[in-house]
Amino acid sequence: MEIKITKTTNPRVCPPENELGFGKIFSDHMFIMDYEEGKGWQDARIVPFGNLSLHPASTVLHYGAEIFEGLKAYRAEDGSVRLFRPMENIKRMNTSAERMCLPLLDEDDFLEALTVFVRLEEKWVPKSFGTSLYLRPFMFGNDEHLGVHGVKRATFMIIASPSGSYYAEGINPVKIMIESEDVRAVRGGTGFAKCGGNYAASTRAGERAAKKGYTQVLWLDGVERKYIEEVGAMNVMFKIDGKIVTPALTGSILPGITRKSCIEVLKNMGYEVEERLLSVDELVDSMKTGKLEEAWGCGTAAVVSPIGTLCYEDTEYTVNGGGIGEVTSKLYDTLTGIQWGKKEDTYGWVYKI
Ligand SMILES: *Cc1c(COP(=O)(O)O)cnc(C)c1O
Repeated sequence: MEIKITKTTNPRVCPPENELGFGKIFSDHMFIMDYEEGKGWQDARIVPFGNLSLHPASTVLHYGAEIFEGLKAYRAEDGSVRLFRPMENIKRMNTSAERMCLPLLDEDDFLEALTVFVRLEEKWVPKSFGTSLYLRPFMFGNDEHLGVHGVKRATFMIIASPSGSYYAEGINPVKIMIESEDVRAVRGGTGFAKCGGNYAASTRAGERAAKKGYTQVLWLDGVERKYIEEVGAMNVMFKIDGKIVTPALTGSILPGITRKSCIEVLKNMGYEVEERLLSVDELVDSMKTGKLEEAWGCGTAAVVSPIGTLCYEDTEYTVNGGGIGEVTSKLYDTLTGIQWGKKEDTYGWVYKI
Protein backbone atom coordinates (compact mmCIF):
# COMPACT_ATOMS: atom_id res chain seq x y z
CA MET A 1 0.00 0.00 0.00
CA GLU A 2 1.27 3.45 -0.83
CA ILE A 3 0.96 5.92 2.06
CA LYS A 4 1.40 9.58 1.16
CA ILE A 5 2.94 11.49 4.06
CA THR A 6 2.43 15.22 4.54
CA LYS A 7 4.39 16.33 7.58
CA THR A 8 3.22 19.10 9.86
CA THR A 9 5.04 22.41 9.52
CA ASN A 10 4.20 23.06 13.16
CA PRO A 11 5.57 20.12 15.23
CA ARG A 12 4.65 20.26 18.91
CA VAL A 13 6.47 19.00 22.00
CA CYS A 14 5.05 16.16 24.10
CA PRO A 15 4.08 17.49 27.58
CA PRO A 16 5.81 16.06 30.69
CA GLU A 17 4.89 12.43 31.38
CA ASN A 18 3.14 13.18 34.67
CA GLU A 19 0.76 15.63 32.96
CA LEU A 20 -0.50 13.33 30.20
CA GLY A 21 -3.69 11.83 31.67
CA PHE A 22 -5.70 9.80 29.15
CA GLY A 23 -6.96 10.76 25.71
CA LYS A 24 -6.60 14.53 26.00
CA ILE A 25 -3.42 15.23 24.04
CA PHE A 26 -2.93 14.13 20.46
CA SER A 27 0.21 13.59 18.41
CA ASP A 28 1.21 15.71 15.39
CA HIS A 29 -0.33 13.56 12.64
CA MET A 30 -3.22 11.26 11.79
CA PHE A 31 -3.71 8.44 9.30
CA ILE A 32 -6.69 8.56 6.91
CA MET A 33 -7.98 6.31 4.14
CA ASP A 34 -11.27 6.51 2.22
CA TYR A 35 -13.58 3.81 0.94
CA GLU A 36 -16.00 3.98 -1.91
CA GLU A 37 -18.10 1.08 -3.15
CA GLY A 38 -16.72 -0.21 -6.43
CA LYS A 39 -13.32 1.43 -5.88
CA GLY A 40 -12.37 -0.07 -2.51
CA TRP A 41 -9.99 1.59 -0.05
CA GLN A 42 -7.97 4.42 -1.54
CA ASP A 43 -5.88 7.50 -0.88
CA ALA A 44 -4.01 6.20 2.21
CA ARG A 45 -2.33 9.23 3.74
CA ILE A 46 -0.80 10.66 6.88
CA VAL A 47 -1.56 14.33 7.38
CA PRO A 48 -1.17 16.92 10.16
CA PHE A 49 -3.65 16.27 13.02
CA GLY A 50 -6.73 18.43 12.58
CA ASN A 51 -10.51 18.69 12.35
CA LEU A 52 -12.62 16.80 9.83
CA SER A 53 -15.25 18.23 7.56
CA LEU A 54 -18.40 16.09 7.24
CA HIS A 55 -21.62 16.38 5.27
CA PRO A 56 -24.48 17.02 7.77
CA ALA A 57 -26.34 13.92 6.45
CA SER A 58 -23.26 11.72 6.96
CA THR A 59 -24.37 8.19 8.03
CA VAL A 60 -22.32 8.18 11.22
CA LEU A 61 -24.12 11.26 12.56
CA HIS A 62 -27.58 9.71 12.22
CA TYR A 63 -27.35 5.94 12.34
CA GLY A 64 -24.21 5.40 14.41
CA ALA A 65 -22.18 3.52 11.78
CA GLU A 66 -18.94 3.61 13.79
CA ILE A 67 -16.44 1.06 15.09
CA PHE A 68 -13.09 1.44 16.80
CA GLU A 69 -10.10 -0.31 18.31
CA GLY A 70 -7.74 0.55 21.15
CA LEU A 71 -4.13 -0.53 21.51
CA LYS A 72 -0.91 0.91 22.84
CA ALA A 73 2.63 1.51 21.61
CA TYR A 74 4.98 0.77 24.51
CA ARG A 75 8.58 1.90 24.93
CA ALA A 76 10.91 -0.70 26.41
CA GLU A 77 13.92 0.20 28.57
CA ASP A 78 16.24 -0.28 25.56
CA GLY A 79 14.31 2.51 23.79
CA SER A 80 12.58 0.20 21.29
CA VAL A 81 8.89 0.73 20.53
CA ARG A 82 6.51 -2.21 20.38
CA LEU A 83 2.84 -3.13 19.99
CA PHE A 84 1.09 -5.98 21.82
CA ARG A 85 -0.69 -8.58 19.65
CA PRO A 86 -1.74 -6.01 17.00
CA MET A 87 -3.09 -8.71 14.63
CA GLU A 88 -5.75 -9.44 17.26
CA ASN A 89 -6.97 -5.84 17.08
CA ILE A 90 -6.89 -5.93 13.29
CA LYS A 91 -8.96 -9.12 13.11
CA ARG A 92 -11.42 -7.82 15.70
CA MET A 93 -11.89 -4.57 13.78
CA ASN A 94 -12.96 -6.61 10.76
CA THR A 95 -15.36 -8.65 12.91
CA SER A 96 -16.87 -5.35 14.11
CA ALA A 97 -17.00 -4.00 10.53
CA GLU A 98 -18.85 -7.09 9.32
CA ARG A 99 -21.45 -6.74 12.10
CA MET A 100 -22.03 -3.05 11.37
CA CYS A 101 -22.12 -3.37 7.54
CA LEU A 102 -18.94 -1.33 7.20
CA PRO A 103 -16.24 -2.30 4.67
CA LEU A 104 -13.51 -4.74 5.72
CA LEU A 105 -9.85 -3.72 5.80
CA ASP A 106 -6.94 -5.64 4.32
CA GLU A 107 -5.06 -7.01 7.37
CA ASP A 108 -1.59 -6.33 5.94
CA ASP A 109 -2.53 -2.77 4.93
CA PHE A 110 -3.86 -2.12 8.43
CA LEU A 111 -0.65 -3.40 10.04
CA GLU A 112 1.42 -1.33 7.63
CA ALA A 113 -0.63 1.77 8.42
CA LEU A 114 -0.06 1.22 12.16
CA THR A 115 3.66 0.61 11.69
CA VAL A 116 4.35 3.58 9.41
CA PHE A 117 2.22 5.87 11.58
CA VAL A 118 3.85 4.86 14.89
CA ARG A 119 7.32 5.20 13.37
CA LEU A 120 6.49 8.74 12.28
CA GLU A 121 5.07 9.58 15.74
CA GLU A 122 7.92 7.90 17.65
CA LYS A 123 8.75 10.95 19.74
CA TRP A 124 5.20 10.81 21.17
CA VAL A 125 5.78 7.40 22.78
CA PRO A 126 6.54 8.30 26.42
CA LYS A 127 9.42 6.60 28.21
CA SER A 128 8.49 5.59 31.73
CA PHE A 129 6.94 2.28 32.78
CA GLY A 130 3.15 2.40 32.64
CA THR A 131 2.99 5.22 30.10
CA SER A 132 2.24 4.60 26.42
CA LEU A 133 1.13 6.08 23.14
CA TYR A 134 -2.53 5.06 22.96
CA LEU A 135 -3.57 4.24 19.39
CA ARG A 136 -7.16 4.65 18.33
CA PRO A 137 -8.03 3.19 14.91
CA PHE A 138 -11.66 3.92 13.96
CA MET A 139 -14.00 3.74 10.99
CA PHE A 140 -17.26 5.46 10.18
CA GLY A 141 -19.80 5.43 7.38
CA ASN A 142 -20.21 8.73 5.55
CA ASP A 143 -22.75 8.41 2.77
CA GLU A 144 -24.09 11.88 2.13
CA HIS A 145 -27.81 11.12 2.35
CA LEU A 146 -30.34 9.88 4.90
CA GLY A 147 -31.29 6.53 3.36
CA VAL A 148 -30.86 3.58 5.73
CA HIS A 149 -28.69 0.79 4.30
CA GLY A 150 -25.15 -0.55 4.33
CA VAL A 151 -22.80 2.34 3.56
CA LYS A 152 -21.21 2.99 0.16
CA ARG A 153 -18.63 5.39 1.56
CA ALA A 154 -16.50 5.10 4.70
CA THR A 155 -13.42 6.61 6.29
CA PHE A 156 -10.77 4.77 8.30
CA MET A 157 -8.44 6.71 10.56
CA ILE A 158 -5.80 6.23 13.23
CA ILE A 159 -5.10 8.89 15.84
CA ALA A 160 -2.62 8.69 18.72
CA SER A 161 -2.66 10.06 22.25
CA PRO A 162 0.31 9.91 24.64
CA SER A 163 -1.08 8.62 27.93
CA GLY A 164 0.10 8.57 31.50
CA SER A 165 0.22 5.51 33.71
CA TYR A 166 -3.26 4.17 34.53
CA TYR A 167 -1.94 3.51 38.02
CA ALA A 168 -0.13 6.78 38.63
CA GLU A 169 -1.57 6.73 42.17
CA GLY A 170 -0.91 3.02 42.74
CA ILE A 171 -3.20 0.04 42.18
CA ASN A 172 -6.29 0.60 44.30
CA PRO A 173 -9.11 -1.96 44.19
CA VAL A 174 -12.36 -0.44 42.90
CA LYS A 175 -15.95 -0.51 44.15
CA ILE A 176 -18.38 -2.05 41.68
CA MET A 177 -22.19 -2.10 41.63
CA ILE A 178 -24.04 -5.00 40.02
CA GLU A 179 -26.46 -3.36 37.55
CA SER A 180 -29.90 -4.93 37.43
CA GLU A 181 -31.76 -2.38 35.28
CA ASP A 182 -29.80 -1.28 32.19
CA VAL A 183 -28.00 -3.88 30.08
CA ARG A 184 -24.94 -3.29 27.90
CA ALA A 185 -25.72 -5.73 25.12
CA VAL A 186 -27.86 -8.69 24.12
CA ARG A 187 -27.12 -11.85 22.18
CA GLY A 188 -27.84 -11.13 18.54
CA GLY A 189 -27.00 -7.47 19.09
CA THR A 190 -23.64 -5.73 18.88
CA GLY A 191 -22.00 -6.72 22.18
CA PHE A 192 -19.14 -8.59 20.51
CA ALA A 193 -18.37 -5.64 18.21
CA LYS A 194 -16.37 -2.63 19.35
CA CYS A 195 -18.84 0.01 18.23
CA GLY A 196 -19.45 3.48 19.59
CA GLY A 197 -23.16 2.84 20.11
CA ASN A 198 -22.47 0.25 22.81
CA TYR A 199 -20.66 2.93 24.76
CA ALA A 200 -23.36 5.57 24.30
CA ALA A 201 -25.97 3.12 25.61
CA SER A 202 -23.95 2.01 28.64
CA THR A 203 -22.94 5.44 29.90
CA ARG A 204 -26.14 6.01 31.89
CA ALA A 205 -25.60 3.05 34.24
CA GLY A 206 -21.98 4.05 34.80
CA GLU A 207 -23.00 7.62 35.68
CA ARG A 208 -25.68 6.44 38.09
CA ALA A 209 -23.22 4.09 39.78
CA ALA A 210 -20.70 6.94 40.08
CA LYS A 211 -23.30 9.08 41.87
CA LYS A 212 -23.64 6.31 44.45
CA GLY A 213 -19.87 6.16 44.95
CA TYR A 214 -19.03 3.20 42.70
CA THR A 215 -16.36 3.20 40.00
CA GLN A 216 -18.30 1.12 37.50
CA VAL A 217 -21.08 -1.42 37.06
CA LEU A 218 -20.97 -5.18 36.66
CA TRP A 219 -23.22 -6.01 33.72
CA LEU A 220 -25.72 -8.85 33.69
CA ASP A 221 -26.99 -10.54 30.51
CA GLY A 222 -29.74 -8.73 28.62
CA VAL A 223 -32.19 -11.62 28.41
CA GLU A 224 -32.56 -12.92 31.97
CA ARG A 225 -30.42 -10.39 33.91
CA LYS A 226 -29.03 -13.48 35.55
CA TYR A 227 -25.54 -14.13 34.19
CA ILE A 228 -22.42 -12.01 34.70
CA GLU A 229 -21.06 -10.43 31.50
CA GLU A 230 -18.48 -7.64 31.90
CA VAL A 231 -17.37 -4.90 34.26
CA GLY A 232 -17.71 -1.41 32.77
CA ALA A 233 -15.81 -1.65 29.48
CA MET A 234 -13.59 -4.48 30.67
CA ASN A 235 -13.89 -8.24 30.76
CA VAL A 236 -14.19 -9.77 34.20
CA MET A 237 -12.58 -12.72 35.99
CA PHE A 238 -13.06 -14.32 39.37
CA LYS A 239 -11.10 -16.76 41.50
CA ILE A 240 -13.69 -18.99 43.12
CA ASP A 241 -12.61 -21.89 45.31
CA GLY A 242 -9.15 -22.06 43.71
CA LYS A 243 -10.38 -21.97 40.10
CA ILE A 244 -10.51 -19.06 37.70
CA VAL A 245 -13.96 -18.38 36.26
CA THR A 246 -14.71 -15.95 33.44
CA PRO A 247 -17.94 -15.53 31.46
CA ALA A 248 -17.96 -17.49 28.18
CA LEU A 249 -18.09 -15.47 24.94
CA THR A 250 -21.77 -15.90 24.14
CA GLY A 251 -22.10 -13.05 21.64
CA SER A 252 -22.94 -10.18 23.96
CA ILE A 253 -19.44 -10.01 25.46
CA LEU A 254 -16.54 -8.18 23.82
CA PRO A 255 -13.74 -10.70 23.15
CA GLY A 256 -10.92 -8.82 24.89
CA ILE A 257 -7.32 -9.36 23.91
CA THR A 258 -6.30 -8.86 27.54
CA ARG A 259 -8.89 -11.50 28.52
CA LYS A 260 -7.46 -13.93 25.97
CA SER A 261 -3.89 -13.19 27.14
CA CYS A 262 -4.84 -13.57 30.84
CA ILE A 263 -6.37 -16.98 30.10
CA GLU A 264 -3.17 -18.14 28.38
CA VAL A 265 -0.94 -16.82 31.18
CA LEU A 266 -3.16 -18.33 33.88
CA LYS A 267 -3.18 -21.75 32.21
CA ASN A 268 0.59 -21.51 31.90
CA MET A 269 0.80 -20.80 35.65
CA GLY A 270 -1.13 -24.02 36.24
CA TYR A 271 -4.53 -22.57 37.09
CA GLU A 272 -7.71 -24.19 35.91
CA VAL A 273 -9.66 -21.63 33.85
CA GLU A 274 -13.37 -22.09 33.28
CA GLU A 275 -15.05 -20.09 30.52
CA ARG A 276 -18.70 -20.63 31.31
CA LEU A 277 -21.96 -19.05 32.36
CA LEU A 278 -21.66 -17.59 35.85
CA SER A 279 -24.92 -16.55 37.47
CA VAL A 280 -25.16 -13.62 39.84
CA ASP A 281 -26.67 -16.03 42.40
CA GLU A 282 -23.59 -18.24 42.23
CA LEU A 283 -21.37 -15.17 42.58
CA VAL A 284 -23.29 -13.80 45.58
CA ASP A 285 -23.29 -17.26 47.14
CA SER A 286 -19.51 -17.48 46.67
CA MET A 287 -19.16 -14.15 48.49
CA LYS A 288 -21.42 -15.25 51.37
CA THR A 289 -19.53 -18.52 51.85
CA GLY A 290 -16.10 -16.92 51.46
CA LYS A 291 -15.32 -18.90 48.31
CA LEU A 292 -14.76 -15.81 46.19
CA GLU A 293 -11.04 -15.20 46.62
CA GLU A 294 -10.37 -12.56 43.96
CA ALA A 295 -12.18 -10.53 41.29
CA TRP A 296 -10.71 -8.29 38.63
CA GLY A 297 -11.50 -6.53 35.37
CA CYS A 298 -9.12 -6.80 32.42
CA GLY A 299 -8.59 -4.62 29.36
CA THR A 300 -5.90 -2.74 27.47
CA ALA A 301 -6.24 0.50 29.46
CA ALA A 302 -5.70 -0.88 32.96
CA VAL A 303 -4.30 -4.34 32.09
CA VAL A 304 -6.00 -5.64 35.26
CA SER A 305 -8.18 -3.73 37.71
CA PRO A 306 -8.77 -5.45 41.07
CA ILE A 307 -12.31 -5.33 42.47
CA GLY A 308 -12.36 -4.66 46.23
CA THR A 309 -16.10 -4.24 46.78
CA LEU A 310 -19.17 -5.62 45.01
CA CYS A 311 -22.67 -4.34 45.71
CA TYR A 312 -25.80 -6.32 44.79
CA GLU A 313 -29.31 -5.17 45.65
CA ASP A 314 -28.02 -2.73 48.27
CA THR A 315 -25.78 -5.23 50.05
CA GLU A 316 -22.03 -4.63 49.90
CA TYR A 317 -19.56 -7.47 49.88
CA THR A 318 -15.81 -7.06 50.37
CA VAL A 319 -13.57 -9.11 48.08
CA ASN A 320 -10.20 -10.33 49.37
CA GLY A 321 -10.33 -7.92 52.30
CA GLY A 322 -10.53 -5.05 49.81
CA GLY A 323 -6.93 -5.60 48.69
CA ILE A 324 -5.28 -6.75 45.45
CA GLY A 325 -5.11 -10.54 45.23
CA GLU A 326 -2.14 -12.76 44.45
CA VAL A 327 -3.38 -13.94 41.04
CA THR A 328 -4.36 -10.40 40.02
CA SER A 329 -0.86 -9.17 40.97
CA LYS A 330 0.86 -11.98 39.09
CA LEU A 331 -1.18 -11.27 35.96
CA TYR A 332 -0.38 -7.58 36.16
CA ASP A 333 3.36 -8.24 36.56
CA THR A 334 3.47 -10.79 33.74
CA LEU A 335 1.52 -8.80 31.16
CA THR A 336 3.08 -5.41 31.89
CA GLY A 337 6.49 -7.11 32.05
CA ILE A 338 6.04 -8.42 28.52
CA GLN A 339 4.54 -5.16 27.22
CA TRP A 340 7.21 -2.84 28.60
CA GLY A 341 10.03 -5.30 27.84
CA LYS A 342 11.00 -6.12 31.42
CA LYS A 343 10.17 -9.80 31.01
CA GLU A 344 11.00 -12.20 28.20
CA ASP A 345 8.12 -12.60 25.74
CA THR A 346 7.86 -16.39 25.59
CA TYR A 347 4.48 -16.13 23.83
CA GLY A 348 5.54 -14.18 20.72
CA TRP A 349 3.06 -11.40 21.54
CA VAL A 350 5.33 -8.41 21.05
CA TYR A 351 5.50 -6.76 17.62
CA LYS A 352 8.51 -4.47 17.29
CA ILE A 353 7.98 -1.31 15.28
C1 LIG B 1 -12.29 -2.95 24.41
C2 LIG B 1 -13.18 -3.62 25.39
C3 LIG B 1 -12.74 -4.63 26.27
C4 LIG B 1 -11.29 -5.00 26.44
O1 LIG B 1 -10.65 -5.45 25.29
P1 LIG B 1 -9.07 -5.46 25.20
O2 LIG B 1 -8.81 -6.00 23.85
O3 LIG B 1 -8.58 -6.34 26.27
O4 LIG B 1 -8.63 -4.05 25.39
C5 LIG B 1 -13.68 -5.26 27.07
N1 LIG B 1 -14.98 -4.92 27.03
C6 LIG B 1 -15.45 -3.95 26.22
C7 LIG B 1 -16.88 -3.63 26.24
C8 LIG B 1 -14.56 -3.27 25.37
O5 LIG B 1 -15.03 -2.30 24.58
